[in-house]
Amino acid sequence: MNLVPTRIELVRPLPPLTYLAPEGLPAGVRVRVRLRNGAAMGVVLGADPAPPSVKLKAIESIVDPFPLLPPKLQDLLAFAAEYYAVGVAHLMRLCLPNVLVPDWEIESDQGVRLRELRDEGRWAELAALGDSWHRGREVLRGLLHRRDRRGAGLTEVRRTDLPHPLKVTPTQAKALVALEGAGGAMLESELRESTGVSAAILATLESKGLIQRTKRLDLLSRRREEGLDRRVVLNEEQRAAAASVDLSGFGVHLLYGVTGSGKTEVYLELAEATLRQGKRVLWLVPEIGLTPGLLTRLEARFPGQVALGHAGLNISEKQADVVRLLQDEAPIFVGVRNAVLAPLRNIGLIIVDEEQEGSYKSEEHPRIHARDLAIKRGQIENCPVVLGSATPSQESWHAARQGRYKLLKLTQRPMGIDLPEVQVVDLRDAYRESRKRVVFSKSLLAGISDSLARGEQAMLLLNRRGFENFWMCRSCGKTLDCPHCAVSLTYHKGPYRLRCHLCGFEAVPPEVCPHCGADHLRGVGEGTEQIEDQLKILFPAARILRLDRDTTTRKGSMEAGLLAAEQGHVDILVGTQMLAKGHNFPQLTLVGILNADQGLRFPDFRAAERTFQLLTQVAGRSGRANRPGRVILQTYSPDHPAIAFAIRQDFEGFAEQELRYREALAYPPFTTLMLYRSEGDTMEAAKQTLEAQKARLSAIPGLRLLGPLEAPIAKVRDRFRMHLLVKARQRSAISTALVAAPLVPGGPVVLDRDPLSFG
Ligand code: ADP
Ligand code: ZN
Repeated sequence: MNLVPTRIELVRPLPPLTYLAPEGLPAGVRVRVRLRNGAAMGVVLGADPAPPSVKLKAIESIVDPFPLLPPKLQDLLAFAAEYYAVGVAHLMRLCLPNVLVPDWEIESDQGVRLRELRDEGRWAELAALGDSWHRGREVLRGLLHRRDRRGAGLTEVRRTDLPHPLKVTPTQAKALVALEGAGGAMLESELRESTGVSAAILATLESKGLIQRTKRLDLLSRRREEGLDRRVVLNEEQRAAAASVDLSGFGVHLLYGVTGSGKTEVYLELAEATLRQGKRVLWLVPEIGLTPGLLTRLEARFPGQVALGHAGLNISEKQADVVRLLQDEAPIFVGVRNAVLAPLRNIGLIIVDEEQEGSYKSEEHPRIHARDLAIKRGQIENCPVVLGSATPSQESWHAARQGRYKLLKLTQRPMGIDLPEVQVVDLRDAYRESRKRVVFSKSLLAGISDSLARGEQAMLLLNRRGFENFWMCRSCGKTLDCPHCAVSLTYHKGPYRLRCHLCGFEAVPPEVCPHCGADHLRGVGEGTEQIEDQLKILFPAARILRLDRDTTTRKGSMEAGLLAAEQGHVDILVGTQMLAKGHNFPQLTLVGILNADQGLRFPDFRAAERTFQLLTQVAGRSGRANRPGRVILQTYSPDHPAIAFAIRQDFEGFAEQELRYREALAYPPFTTLMLYRSEGDTMEAAKQTLEAQKARLSAIPGLRLLGPLEAPIAKVRDRFRMHLLVKARQRSAISTALVAAPLVPGGPVVLDRDPLSFG
């Protein structure tokens, strides 16, 4: 076989490397190569027209007989690689698990073994086979192995209605108590990890009828039965919205309607029409925690036809899902961010629910934005894209106002529930009255008591975990900071530690101030842990559940907690904003926002938008079933536009003001941004690399260069951080810059195109 110099890109911070590989090996095929420190998977880019004049190594093996990704998805990857200035291999890793390896021993439908074609270098024939496989003409049975789909990690254990028995062994009791403490349901893996109870003990409990174990897939089918008769007749607005989406070609639609206005029903209707055309649906959701409720509805409507790209799935489950997609078994694929790159063929509709959510943007390399790529994918697949939101991003709203997106509005709540009543508590008044900082205002306490008395749920939100935000010495005024990061440490009472939320550093709290030796240390700023403590004292009989990053570190614990709350095993839910979104708690009638101003203090031009979104979403959580809801919003700045408009639930008013501000200050959507971030052992080193980049950019017309400036968090893990912000009126100026001033892969500067976070 003839070996020729071939460019291969590895999933490493390296430029493409040149290896010897069989002539004619098509681009997009994965290969294995040997590096100094082991083997690595790479992707063929093509023959190298100008190979380096050193002795080249040969690749170790060829993984794929032909490119496994559907051709249109390869086009999308090529676009994204250029747009975000990253290698295709880095993107491919997001949609094709490394463990998914085709079987060369299988035969084509004509009875030719793939391995023989490979050994004879018949790449054109293999490519033709791949082509007909992608078109569904060739089956290639057994090409992709399928491993067991059910991970033990996703078995749910649930306490039954049988009363706690008098006679149980201590280990059995441990399991039952843990379950009851978690509100009645936990994932098996979590229960076993936290209690050390064996599977045999659980089996005994199950045989006694005290618990029930259900696999996730069976869970879906149970939900299917529960959800059976939930089909609704669309109202006039919903029908009009669905009818405005032309399924025959590309177009972007913004479906704007308050929470509960029936957007999901519109998606379902469109999905059904898409399936009728024999096409598939790609359905993006912002967070894993939001999928269970949606899955119930999807499974009820499309039994057995839904695949779920779940960040919580283990490798073999992920792999099984990818195989299902590649084999065209699941016509509907639901997933979070990276699912936008799912190897789904023949897409007829793309849905991006809660399109404004920041979680669609990856905060690690490659920093893609799933909503933006969804739109590009719609264009490539020539199918409609529906973005849905109660509080659209300013970018999408602006596009809709300009007529680039089609605006579809839902103005009512079909179930007839009114939007909740929002009551504002001015914390300045509360302070004046009681002469001290108020955590729970009188109205809030009264509200909680009321909802407890009626057997309903209350949810309290505070976007700060831990017990006290930081410790300060009253004698010298200094705070206790992380030795490795430019932030203060947060006190966690349970583990009795001061912790850094950035690098994980922790220390036992000192008795005296390490700066001046005085014993005047005090904690400032309550976090969710303290709120939970105070609630336990104020409402001793209430079942209180705290959900934040500290209580949900184990896989599945978030889901289990949410399930418990959904089923009414919790009276007061306390948590950070991860609680605010998308969940459906039928008994929840009171939401308390402890400090609505918290988000406004971030040095970020989107701070007001985020606060508005959060407050509106939170309000939408309450009163979804048949009871009216109430929101109590505590704030020091009731007149700030983000808060004032949120109280009136006036998105359009907010957007009008916000867009004017963005235009005046030349921020997106009126400009486009690119952020270069650098890190160094000193601030000076970090700055110099950015100065060099700035010099290269300064020749390019149409760019405004701001910086280098210290990042808002100037040091993390002992690395100093600087930013260089680039603003442009035209996207094309940015694209030019990426080509004219490329970065060295693996170098000290990284690029964040269309940045959402400036931390
Ligand atoms: P959204 O996605 O906008 O939050 P949903 O589609 O989830 O709204 O609808 C909220 C609730 O109203 C759901 O329980 C849904 O089944 C119900 N619903 C939606 N449309 C209708 C309708 N036309 N008739 C009756 N109930 C409806
Ligand atoms: Zn730190």
